[in-house]
Amino acid sequence: MSTPAPLDALAARGAVAVIGLGRSGVSAARLLARAGARVYASDAGTGPAVAEAAAQLTAEGIVAEAGGHDLARITAAGTVVVSPGVPPTAPALLAARAGDAAVLSEIEVALRALPGVPYIGVTGTNGKTTVTALVGHLLRALGHETVEAGNIGTPLSEVALGARRPAWMAVELSSFQLHDSPSVAPTVAVLTNLAPDHLDRYAGLEEYYADKMLLFRNATPASIRVVNGDDAEVTRRTAKVPGQARRFSLIDRTADAWYDADAQMLTLGGSALLERALLPLLGAHNVANALAAALAVWHALPADQTTTGRARIAAALRGFKGIAHRLEPVGERDGVLWVNDSKATNVGAARVALESMTRPTILLLGGRHKGEPYTGLVDAIRGHAKMVLAYGESAPKVVKDLAPHVAVERLGSSFEQVIARAREIAVPGDAVLLAPACSSYDMFTNYEERGAAFRRLALGA
Ligand code: ADP
Repeated sequence: MSTPAPLDALAARGAVAVIGLGRSGVSAARLLARAGARVYASDAGTGPAVAEAAAQLTAEGIVAEAGGHDLARITAAGTVVVSPGVPPTAPALLAARAGDAAVLSEIEVALRALPGVPYIGVTGTNGKTTVTALVGHLLRALGHETVEAGNIGTPLSEVALGARRPAWMAVELSSFQLHDSPSVAPTVAVLTNLAPDHLDRYAGLEEYYADKMLLFRNATPASIRVVNGDDAEVTRRTAKVPGQARRFSLIDRTADAWYDADAQMLTLGGSALLERALLPLLGAHNVANALAAALAVWHALPADQTTTGRARIAAALRGFKGIAHRLEPVGERDGVLWVNDSKATNVGAARVALESMTRPTILLLGGRHKGEPYTGLVDAIRGHAKMVLAYGESAPKVVKDLAPHVAVERLGSSFEQVIARAREIAVPGDAVLLAPACSSYDMFTNYEERGAAFRRLALGA
């Protein structure tokens, strides 16, 4: 189905239950109500934000409640819309899946309300947000009004509610969102990489990768995909997807966009694009991210496949500001550089963060364990870190996995003490890197709060 069924077709299937009253759920409820659906929106949370959201929807004439779900109402609904943050094991979602209702993502609802708006869809284990932000930045630089939406922060439903339709959208899609988005059909689909993650939320890797592959569920021989030519898992799984494959690579000169390490030059479509030194992002993975974004935009806008178009892409890459909490240098104090990669919430991300460090590094590792062994970090730690500080809930597991191989010290769950200990150990010329390889939920509300605490404590005193 590449032209999505219109939103009012959902309204015709009876009541619609929206699970989750975060920003996405609230916007989806409004969109559905505007299309004439009878909406029941609910959230198990009891905090002030969800209570306020429920009150607002109620004031707009939408049935909404916080602090629990009416399961009978959810199972009786023709359609159930699930917000991205709702865990797959939430009883309300399990009840919905057990019944006859069609379970759809908030993204699906939004796509049905935005027919005909072209978009570059980005998924992968790591680099989604960076590539999505780069794509938005490049599309704008080429003169197209573009919004970044989806998992990156602004819910797609919020875009659909807006009075103005963007000319283009850069949409970040998580595996959870893809699972329930039957209409997904990007103009250009980007798969950054595939690595183990979310083993706390999936029964196994196969299910996780299968959800990622749903980015291509509506691919046709005319489709264009941009894929990581250096990732064997990506290559293997996408080999039979219909349409044209465009590859980016850090090593392969036959790729459509690649990094010439000898010349230290990013290349696109057979010609030099930008010197490495002029790309203002740390790490080889960010060279890959820049190549992926440039290649996606290059194929989204065939009219700009010119020398001028390439020059504008290069100029825009040079001016890209980077994104908070992604390998973000927050400052240097007493000769020690503090780097915030709070978004490195899995082992693969922490590994690339470490590999990007050019100074002896004290690595802050820990938080809520997500299922992967930390042994996958041993080589990168040996090459780049002088010491690991293990903290939070996962500290015992981190120590068990790493202590036989590298220097690791176990700390508790006070982030102040973690930072104080790092400051004690660091000498001028060192770096302290927060790349926790874990989620933040044992000690913080989210990774943003963890990164903000790191910045504040690092720069303080
Ligand atoms: P996502 O949105 O997929 O979580 P982000 O762009 O937010 O990805 O980056 C999160 C972290 O993942 C970064 O801070 C970095 O450590 C790591 N990372 C980013 N891009 C890549 C990549 N292309 N390959 C591997 N790891 C990456």
